Amino acid sequence: MSLRLRLALFYTGQLVVALLLFSFLMYGVLRWNYIREVDASLYSVAWRVAESMQRYWRIPSLKGLADRSTFILVRTDELVIAQSTDFGTFPVPAEAMAGRATYTTERDVNGEPYRLYTLPVYVNGEPVFWVQVAQPLQLLERVLTTLRPILGAGIAGFALLTGAAAWWLAGRAIAPVQRVASAAESIGQSADLSLRVPYQGPQDEVGRLVHTFNGMLDQLQELYARLATAVDAQKRFVADASHELRTPLTIIRGNIDYLERAGTLDPEAVADMKAEAARMSELLEELLAMARADAGQTPELEPLALGPLVRDVCRRAGALPHQVDFVVELPPALDRIMVLGHAEWLRRALLILLDNAFKYTPSGTVTVRAGRQGEGVVLQVIDTGPGIPPEDLPRVFDRFFRGDPARSRGGSGLGLAIASWVAGLHGGRLTAESKVGEGSTFSLWLPVYRPAAGGTNS
Ligand code: ADP
Repeated sequence: MSLRLRLALFYTGQLVVALLLFSFLMYGVLRWNYIREVDASLYSVAWRVAESMQRYWRIPSLKGLADRSTFILVRTDELVIAQSTDFGTFPVPAEAMAGRATYTTERDVNGEPYRLYTLPVYVNGEPVFWVQVAQPLQLLERVLTTLRPILGAGIAGFALLTGAAAWWLAGRAIAPVQRVASAAESIGQSADLSLRVPYQGPQDEVGRLVHTFNGMLDQLQELYARLATAVDAQKRFVADASHELRTPLTIIRGNIDYLERAGTLDPEAVADMKAEAARMSELLEELLAMARADAGQTPELEPLALGPLVRDVCRRAGALPHQVDFVVELPPALDRIMVLGHAEWLRRALLILLDNAFKYTPSGTVTVRAGRQGEGVVLQVIDTGPGIPPEDLPRVFDRFFRGDPARSRGGSGLGLAIASWVAGLHGGRLTAESKVGEGSTFSLWLPVYRPAAGGTNS
């Protein structure tokens, strides 16, 4: 059953119930009131007769007391003693026989209703006579008989009218919802997330529904776009990774072919193969790190003293081949600074920055600095290398991005992407500033760790 029909039926049903209740009440009150009046008149006539009998020991003139619609009868349990007109007898209810005044509603031989009051008259404490007064109820019957169909027809008419009005109103109220539903349906069918449900009405319940629905579509569209970008990035990643792995493999295979043909173990070819195999395993390790990061595998973090860690990395970096002055400027306060981190990944990120600085700086200085910055600590690797062109700067953290001069330096383009991921993993960030011809500064900012309770404030 449609919502419209249900609403219309509900309202009509409510009205019909209310009207029925009202009609029954009116009918009942009318009947009750009329009978009460008749009863009062029967009572007064009966008592006048009974009083006269008890006081004066005689029956008053019944004709004088009765009017056209009142019948009076005086009787013992066997005989009718007197009656206002010759109309036969009335039944004596058992209650009245037992001595209690009683009202009853009877029907005469023609089936016409009348109201009867039977009043026992006591002699020496015993009911001996009964005064009976009756009045026909035809008038009431006629009024009620006329009223019934009027009420019935009235209720039916009102029900029809209300039904029609409720149907129309429900239709009007539901129309915007229907429009929204069919718009939503067509959006679902076309699978076009850029479509929106048009709505110009007031911001009522329907307005809010449309607003919420369109808002949901916004979110879906955004999510879908992000998903598509992620899938694209993943495809690119796989393609780039395959491409990167192909080059060293080709070189190794070429050398094996050469060695086979030459029949001797040329030390140069073997060295080539060794270097390419080393490059490949380094690349594979980086790829694996990225894949783990993509899979959402985040290593456990623990409170670490930053000073010893940075000093250790600088010591190891100093052993890397470089042609620059390597300056380490770490304040003693660094030893008291703790971060919540993963030692191995932090080492790796710093090494990537230092390795890049050495790789891309043919002469000059590479400086490592550290200091407090806001709620955190910043580690900086500053070089006096060729710098990064402004158009490349925003892309250096992208996977597989390599600046032009880098191509000859054998990097995979994954180093900074990994370092940046490590920064994010620690709730920090990695930023780069550079001026072509002057050098570059890579800053790794990490939030300082403060134990929740009882810790020292560094
Ligand atoms: P790669 O393996 O090529 O070094 P990275 O992700 O570490 O990959 O770096 C991406 C690119 O950013 C490099 O190819 C290079 O062009 C540029 N780059 C990174 N560090 C420096 C630096 N210290 N000086 C100049 N250019 C740099």
